[in-house]
Amino acid sequence: MKQLVSTPVEAHQNLRSGVIRVDQSNPDFLAKIDPHFRPVWEGRPAAEEMALRRYFLPHRSRQAVLTPSRPRVIKWYCPFAAQSVFPTGHRYCINVYVGCSCRCVYCYATSYEPATPACKQHFARLLAKDLADLERFDVPPAPVHLSNSSDPFQPLELRFGHTKCALEGLLAHRHRFSTVTLLTKYPGVAARADYLQLLKSLGEIAPMHPCADRWAAAGSPAVQVEVSLAFWREEARLFWDVAAASVARRIEGIRALRAAGIPVVLRIDPLFPRSPLPTQPVQTLPDCGLVEAQTLADLESLVSFAREVGVRHVVYSPAKIVLPWRSGLPAAMQDLLRVYRALAAPQKPVWRGGSWRLPRPVVEQLMTGPFLEICQRHGVTAKFCMQNLIETI
Ligand code: SF4
Repeated sequence: MKQLVSTPVEAHQNLRSGVIRVDQSNPDFLAKIDPHFRPVWEGRPAAEEMALRRYFLPHRSRQAVLTPSRPRVIKWYCPFAAQSVFPTGHRYCINVYVGCSCRCVYCYATSYEPATPACKQHFARLLAKDLADLERFDVPPAPVHLSNSSDPFQPLELRFGHTKCALEGLLAHRHRFSTVTLLTKYPGVAARADYLQLLKSLGEIAPMHPCADRWAAAGSPAVQVEVSLAFWREEARLFWDVAAASVARRIEGIRALRAAGIPVVLRIDPLFPRSPLPTQPVQTLPDCGLVEAQTLADLESLVSFAREVGVRHVVYSPAKIVLPWRSGLPAAMQDLLRVYRALAAPQKPVWRGGSWRLPRPVVEQLMTGPFLEICQRHGVTAKFCMQNLIETI
C-alpha cells in the first residue's frame, strides 16, 4: 500500500522519530481504515466525513490499518465493531472511571476492566482537549453514553466528581452531542439537586440545536437516565449485584427522577433462568448453589413498577457468562455455567465474544418469552439491548 506522507522533509523527520504523519486529505486514506468502521465514514457529506476522520483517526501512525483510537476521553462507542455489520454508527462513550465498585457477578466489563475501580488521571484536562477537538474539527453531533464499563454515579463520584465535570463539559458544548444517556445503579445520586439541574439543562432543547427537528420527529428526549434494576428482592440483589445500591434505594431514586420530569429507561437486564429448571432431574437454582434471581412474580413487579412510574421503555438481554480479565470465573458464574450446560443439553452453551450464552431457542423459551409476555400484558414497550442502542438518536 502506498505510504501516506505530507512532504519529503516531514517524511524524513518522521521516519527519524519513528512515526509517519498521516495525510488524511489523500484520497487513498479511506482504504487504510479498518473495514469494520468504514460504514461510519461512507456516504456522509464530505465535510462530516473529514471531521470524523480528524477526530477519531490517528494523525500520525506507522500502522497499515487504522482504527479509531485517537480521542482521549470521548471515545468511539463500538461494542459491536467486530461484527460483520457495524450498525451503531457515530456514537460516543465517556467511561468516566476505570472499572466499577458494584461488583455485579455477571458484569460484561470484567472481561477487559480491572477488578478495582479507579479514577482516570487528568480526566478534566483530557476531557477539555477532546471537547476542544470536537469544536476544532467541527464534528457533527452524536449520542453520548456514560458509561459502558463503569457506573458514573458509583461512590467514587461523591469524592471526585468526574461525572459532574463530564456533564458540565457536555452542557458547554451541547451542540456537539445529540442524546445524552447515563446508565446507573445509583439513580438516587443522579436525583440530587446539583445533578438534577445539570440533567434538566442538558434536556432543554434549544430550537437552534442541530438535532431539534430529529428529536421532535422521533418524540425522543435529549437526555435520559437508564437505571439498571434486574431484581425485585433484596436477597437476589445482594447475591448478583453484590455491592450496588439496594433495590429500595433504586426504586426511590427512580421515583425522584420521574417526579422531576427526567426521562427514565428501566433496564431489567440481564434476564436469568428460573426454577424449576427444565433439567433431568428437575432442579432449582438454589440446588445449584445460586440464589433465585427472578421469579415470574419478581418480573411482574418490575414491569408493573415500570408502568406505574412511566418509564420510556424497558430493556432486556439474557445473562451471559463472561470470562473475567486476568482471573477465573467467580464461584456464582461457575455454578451458572453448570446450569447453562444442563439447560443447553444435548447442545453446549455458545461461546462467543468472550462469554458463554444459552442457545437461542432455550433463551426464548426460558427467559425472553415469559418476560415479553409480561411486558405485553402490562402495555410496557420492551427493547432488546442492541435495539435500544441503535434507536437512541
Ligand atoms: S454496574 Fe454495570 S459496569 Fe458496574 S459492575 Fe455492575 S454491570 Fe458492571
